[in-house]
This record gives sequence, C-alpha cells and structure tokens, in this order.
Amino acid sequence: MSVPFTLTGIPFTLALVASKAEVPHGTGEKFPAVGEINWDQHSLRVAGNLTRVEVNQNLLHELLHGVVRFYHVRELVRHGDPSDHSEPALDQLAAGLQEVLGCLGVDLVAAIEAKERCALTVTAKPAPVPYP
Ligand SMILES: [Zn+2]
Repeated sequence: MSVPFTLTGIPFTLALVASKAEVPHGTGEKFPAVGEINWDQHSLRVAGNLTRVEVNQNLLHELLHGVVRFYHVRELVRHGDPSDHSEPALDQLAAGLQEVLGCLGVDLVAAIEAKERCALTVTAKPAPVPYP
C-alpha cells in the first residue's frame, strides 16, 4: 500500500515495502538499495524491515533526493545531472533531520502507517445492515 505526497505540486506515492528485495536498485549500484525514488513513476519505496530510526532516516534520504531535484538545489547536484545527487550530503542531512525530528517526537513511519490505516478505513465497504 502507498500514500500520496507532492513535490512542487507534482503527485508522488510513497510505500514502505517488506524488504530491500522489493526496492529496485539503480543501475551501477554495487549493493541493493534500501530505498529509491523513481522519477518516471513518481514513486518512492523504502524497505521497512530495518530499525525504526534507519527506516525514518532512509525515508528522509529519499525525500531529500526529491527536494534536491524539484527545488533545484544545485549545490547537491553532481555532474550537471539533476537526478544525480551527493549521497554523503543527503546521508548527513537525513541523519541530522532524523535526530531533530526524533527528539520532537516526529515519526515518519508512524505517520505513514496511520495514513494507510485511514485510507483502508475510508475505502472499506460498510457491512450490510440487516432488516429488522
Ligand atoms: Zn541516495
């Protein structure tokens, strides 16, 4: 299941998947990725079977890729390719944001799970009411 979000008004979906086996890894990457933002499908997938801190940090990392691309953060773009970003910088930003948001009680995984439950409730068909 996925939840919607936008970047500069462009709709995306975000899904927590069971493991990194469900996260397609980009071309040329040596190890399977734990998260990925797909520019063509406007989707973001992050493996959910890591620690809560790791999953939140990976979510932030992937969301930051989107922010860098769609808000044109040229300082973090590599080789003039708007899809190629400084991975160490995104890791550091994600770690810093994770620490601050964690201290403030913001848990992205919990927020996504709550939104998924809400969507399930809204789309569930009500049980038929029998005639008396
Ligand atoms: Zn990355």
